Amino acid sequence: MNTQAADSTQDTLIKEKNRVEVLEEKADQKPDGALSKRLKAPVHIPTDTVNPISKDSLAKLVKFERKRVKDSVRNELNKLPKHVYFTFDDGPLLGSTAIDSISKAKNIKINVFLVGKHANMSKGLKRDFQKYYNNPLVECYNHSYTHANNKFTTFYSNPISAFDDFEKNEIDLKLKYKIIRLPGRNIWIYDDVRRIDLQSGASTADMLYTNGYKIYGWDVEWKIHGLTGKPIQSVHEIYTRICNYMNNKSSMEPNNVVLLMHDDMFQNKKGQQLLSSLIDSIQNNTDYKFEFIRDYPFRY
Ligand SMILES: [Zn+2]
Repeated sequence: MNTQAADSTQDTLIKEKNRVEVLEEKADQKPDGALSKRLKAPVHIPTDTVNPISKDSLAKLVKFERKRVKDSVRNELNKLPKHVYFTFDDGPLLGSTAIDSISKAKNIKINVFLVGKHANMSKGLKRDFQKYYNNPLVECYNHSYTHANNKFTTFYSNPISAFDDFEKNEIDLKLKYKIIRLPGRNIWIYDDVRRIDLQSGASTADMLYTNGYKIYGWDVEWKIHGLTGKPIQSVHEIYTRICNYMNNKSSMEPNNVVLLMHDDMFQNKKGQQLLSSLIDSIQNNTDYKFEFIRDYPFRY
């Protein structure tokens, strides 16, 4: 028997075992967000003071370098898990029961930003709220008690009364998480992020954040006419938009895409079928995971 060959096979096996162990150890490490940081970091080109290049050439160089970094980070991020967040605003409303049933039928996590005033409008809506509340696949968050009575500028012109309105909602609906979406505003304040779309609303958002709340906006919005079930954007359009945000790393956080919908979009059978069909498209064609906003963002 060729003992040398046996030895080298043994060696190879040991090496392979070590390699696998190292890889497993790496996989166990919590991601530190380095890739996300690199994606946003400004590009630095070392300047040569002896032979300075023209401004034009430097601009070209920066542009080239930025693209190179972005492409390489994008390649790395594409190998990592991707997360999608379905968020439904303004419930409970007609449409909420259907959303609740669809989340169970498809076995996906969803997020609802609730309005307490709606839950107190009728016994039926109270019951729909309870369904959400008791469904482990649904997480209930805060969208204010009155929804600003749809007079947003007036509502946000008094941050203290606006703050109280969110607090009232939290108590009334017994909300477990200090997670908010502002009515009528796409404002994000959490961790190291603060992005404001309209200045009216910023003081209220800051005050909420200072008091332990996190405020989340959205990357993509889907609009369907509630009564007719006619979509402004087709399932294909909205599916493509979600994928583009995921692939181009253009969402607020790369590999995390937040979709905004409204409960009243799904009061009609047609609308409900569109929602089911969007979920099917994602489940059949992508490896995206449906997540709770509480876990947002997954940073790699
Ligand atoms: Zn709303």
